[in-house]
Amino acid sequence: MITLVQQFKGKGESETLPKKIVSITKYEKPYESVKKAVSSCGGFDALRSGARVFIKPNIVFWSSESIFPKWGVITTSRVVEDIVVLLKEHGIDDITIGEGIVDSFQDDGAAAHASAYLGYDLLGEKYGVKFINVMKRPFKKVDLGDGITLSFNQDIMESDFVIDLPVMKSHSQTVVSLGIKNLKGTINTASRKKCHNADRNKDLHYHVSKLADKMPPILTVIDGIYSLSRGPSFDGRAKRSNLLIASADILSADMVGAKLLGYHPEEVPHLVWAAKKRGRPLDLSDLEIVGEDLAEVAAEHEYTFDYSITETGEMPMALARSGISGLFYRKFDDTMCTYCSSLTGLVLIAIRQAWSGEPWDNIEVLTGKVMEPAPGMGATILLGQCMYKLNKDHPNINKMVAVKGCPPKPEDVVKALHEVGIEVNPSLFSNIAALPGAYMERYRDRPEFEESFFKVE
Ligand code: SF4
Repeated sequence: MITLVQQFKGKGESETLPKKIVSITKYEKPYESVKKAVSSCGGFDALRSGARVFIKPNIVFWSSESIFPKWGVITTSRVVEDIVVLLKEHGIDDITIGEGIVDSFQDDGAAAHASAYLGYDLLGEKYGVKFINVMKRPFKKVDLGDGITLSFNQDIMESDFVIDLPVMKSHSQTVVSLGIKNLKGTINTASRKKCHNADRNKDLHYHVSKLADKMPPILTVIDGIYSLSRGPSFDGRAKRSNLLIASADILSADMVGAKLLGYHPEEVPHLVWAAKKRGRPLDLSDLEIVGEDLAEVAAEHEYTFDYSITETGEMPMALARSGISGLFYRKFDDTMCTYCSSLTGLVLIAIRQAWSGEPWDNIEVLTGKVMEPAPGMGATILLGQCMYKLNKDHPNINKMVAVKGCPPKPEDVVKALHEVGIEVNPSLFSNIAALPGAYMERYRDRPEFEESFFKVE
């Protein structure tokens, strides 16, 4: 990461660029706070009345089978509705809310359920807003330069103006997930997999850095009413932060958002690439920040968890503390797509529950697209089609157990773990849709976590 920054330092930095305005607003009341955030950064200055507007919330995950923690995970409906009201007041009638929800748990009705639960259907009745499931709409190939082509939702590309509403969260692979990263929800499944590229020169960060490049003008409003550590999903840790960050310049909003989450933009590779492309400095010197004092309201948000690496095992610290040995479950890298990574949490929970105190026979689990087997392992589980294709003939493998799906099927993961003597409970996998609901326990008796933020009345 430092190398990347050093490589770019001194190139293209300009002191003559006009200052980009970013507002940091304390969230205090419905409507008023969002209005203040937008007006203090001149967010609608480039928006003509009568324009077609596309609103992109962040619904990184949805389950229609359980109530799960949405705080810091999903854009609050409060902010979505307030934006819609402001747009109507600005003379905008053609408003579309669009999201491409990852269908990790084969939940076919997820998008329709989300739209009803989050009140988007009601926004349709009240204000004539349309909701579209991006995954069911046409995509159009967009050449982002440097040999990178991704397929974007046609509706957003053909709109006149985009309102990007990410949540203020950290992200286990991209450090932060803010305005630019939120646009990944507008590309098709094949493009999402492509972003998690095995080419280290054109990796996930490089792909993500380009997502906003060919978009119509964007106003970014980062919803920090709740923020999230160890994001991006329901297994992260939310806190009430009561902040809104807004800017008509997406990179500026993201750099300030990163600082508020405790990261210098230099620590976020996709922001480094995006700044380099635009010839912008990373030290916020070309920004005018209005509203709250950044240093006073910034707070550390961890983006990943610690791993334990010893001679007898490699695994998340939480598993190592249980005394597990003989397991080498290497830390995921940025080549692992969301589809595979949505299984990881469950697999680790299941392994921890299956531990009986008897060391396993040096079982190695490999994921993503670039990991290679280590010598001396008892068995190697290749999780996902990418691992199988890369390593099926690898000479280091003593016993290969392949889970070939893309993404792997939960029942095949169970079979593989049983085959190497890790007796995970199959019902955990057959009830995979119930898992997110279990995380509600973390927020029990904590009144600052209000479900009403995700409702429209
Ligand atoms: S196997 Fe997993 S990592 Fe490979 S493309 Fe499929 S979802 Fe992505």
